[in-house]
Amino acid sequence: METIAQRLNHLKGSLPEHVTLVAVSKTHPAIAVLQAYKAGQRDFGENRVQELVEKQAALPADIRWHLIGTLQRNKVKAIAPFVHLIHSIDSERLLMEVDRQAMLCDRIIDVLLQFHVAQEETKHGFSWQEVELFLKSPAFSSMKNVRLCGVMGMATFTEDEQQVRSEFAQLRDIFNRLRAAYFPMDPAFSIVSMGMSGDYRLAIDEGSTMIRVGSAIFGIRPSL
Ligand SMILES: *Cc1c(COP(=O)(O)O)cnc(C)c1O
Repeated sequence: METIAQRLNHLKGSLPEHVTLVAVSKTHPAIAVLQAYKAGQRDFGENRVQELVEKQAALPADIRWHLIGTLQRNKVKAIAPFVHLIHSIDSERLLMEVDRQAMLCDRIIDVLLQFHVAQEETKHGFSWQEVELFLKSPAFSSMKNVRLCGVMGMATFTEDEQQVRSEFAQLRDIFNRLRAAYFPMDPAFSIVSMGMSGDYRLAIDEGSTMIRVGSAIFGIRPSL
């Protein structure tokens, strides 16, 4: 049996330099996070606010915590003081709340816009039309405490490799078009967060710059 540190090191050794690995530790205990931390990992992802808050309090302060799951507006306040990057901004109202809480903490919070590219209806996200309207709106220009750093998305859960590739390519294309139209001079707008344990190689082929990998590092998640 390989250890967490071994799986992490194999994975990191296989990644191109421009790809950041977020180790998704959801459902795994703090001790597992610590094993990855000792092997040098600093970026960790959680999908639930409660779990994120508990782990942040218990683990080393230099961990960069990523919120990758659906975020409710009333939970933003709990993570605003420390969150490193929120991947899952899926509405204007949510972003407004992040901006407000970031202002109260006197910080600027980095965020990604989540897009719906998969076929499954259960996956959240903006459409291109919604984001265009929003980026042109005065509401967006007035937000001073959030920084848009790129896009995030998930592919359909399917064996069909061509479909997964084409959904990742769609997301990369959305990123390119947004960057060209709205962030041409902004080096911070640089992140395409796509790819999980089962599909990160395809995602990297299609232009991912940040992958979110859980089970390939920490093993099968204990069922909830
Ligand atoms: C759980 C999760 C991941 C990681 O999934 P694995 O298949 O365990 O690698 C990535 N992204 C999101 C949004 C998740 O919820």
